[in-house]
Amino acid sequence: MQYDHIIIRYGELTLKGKNRKLFTSQLLANVREALDEYKDIRVKKKYDRMYIQLNGENPDPIIERCKKIFGIQNMSLAIRAENDEKDIKKNALELIKNTDSVQTFKVSTKRSNKSFPIPSQEFNHVLGGFLLSHLDDISVDVHQPDLEVMVDIRQDATYITSKKIPGAAGLPVGSSGKSLLLLSGGIDSPVAGYLAMKRGVQLEAIHFHSPPYTSERAKEKVLDLAERLSYYGHKIKVHIVPFTALQQKIHREIPNSYSMTVMRRVMMRISEAVAERENILSLITGESLGQVASQTMESMHAINAVTSYPIIRPLIAMDKEDIIQISENIDMYEISIRPYEDCCTVFVPKSPKTKPRLEKVEQFEKNVDFSEDIMKVLEEIETIQVPQKDKKEDSLESLL
Ligand code: ATP
Ligand code: MG
Repeated sequence: MQYDHIIIRYGELTLKGKNRKLFTSQLLANVREALDEYKDIRVKKKYDRMYIQLNGENPDPIIERCKKIFGIQNMSLAIRAENDEKDIKKNALELIKNTDSVQTFKVSTKRSNKSFPIPSQEFNHVLGGFLLSHLDDISVDVHQPDLEVMVDIRQDATYITSKKIPGAAGLPVGSSGKSLLLLSGGIDSPVAGYLAMKRGVQLEAIHFHSPPYTSERAKEKVLDLAERLSYYGHKIKVHIVPFTALQQKIHREIPNSYSMTVMRRVMMRISEAVAERENILSLITGESLGQVASQTMESMHAINAVTSYPIIRPLIAMDKEDIIQISENIDMYEISIRPYEDCCTVFVPKSPKTKPRLEKVEQFEKNVDFSEDIMKVLEEIETIQVPQKDKKEDSLESLL
């Protein structure tokens, strides 16, 4: 016996009323994209679920891949049978015979196709009795069976499954628009990006790089993080901003205690300009309230005032331990703790103001014009489309 289908169930998506089609179409496109190296399979969408027709492919790596696709509530391996009592019996028997260590089972039938002549309850008994009479050393346990044989009798066919495998839940990436993630090499921003993706956001990333204070390795680290993130959605474009000259200027022209606030504001101005150029309507950061000097209420107020773009902060109320836990779960942590300097740590003053005042910041900035430097930097941005390493055909390609 071989499972010939994977059933994908949507969960939250079914609640989306009119938008539902948008969500399910996005999910379909994402599933097809994620599985595009499996040339023989077919992915089809129905109203309340999707089917992957395996056509002989091994389902295990496909299931593993699907576990990273947001918008999937759960999945089941299934055998497709005709809407015919005999065919269902034959396939259900195969399923039990080929499942290891089953001593108890129960049958749960769902009959949405009312033209099938036997009602669900009755069919539970019919099929249960048949299985008992064809197997040795096995009994029915309706409370805690080793195996639940689920029989779903639908219009087109009957699908026999035995368990639900949890999916990544959330919303399909792309269904909530696009956002620009300020991606450092740290622990927080990749997790922030991941959580935004889970709510259906497609990402581009921007990274501020200050050679020679920050090394080529620091840049590679960021590209590796972006690659890991892309595995949960689409390929990610990373905009690398050459930030050295601007940071030096800030260091020279702005009093030490305010240089960090001004640096963040300049980062926001550049990010906003890139977002505008890319038709992106919001920014994402990995800020978490109270974590460091730049993440106080006053500081966020002073930094935020420089842009009218919404800044999404998925981690704002999270504890560091919880953030690290997610980072580990999604295999980012090992990359994030590689010991390369970030531009912000290189230039960070000894005692940055934890409660900067907006009027003061604006006053300092009045005396220094950053606009031209920002324009220049925007011209020099290097944009890299990060490949998904699991896909064979890709290689690192520079777009600009
Ligand atoms: P992270 O762990 O994400 O680096 P952090 O705890 O080090 O965050 P900060 O250094 O205050 O905190 O950075 C706050 C946020 O600013 C980061 O989460 C990130 O979104 C953004 N950021 C900081 N440095 C950079 C950088 N070099 N390039 C792009 N974004 C950055
Ligand atoms: Mg950092």
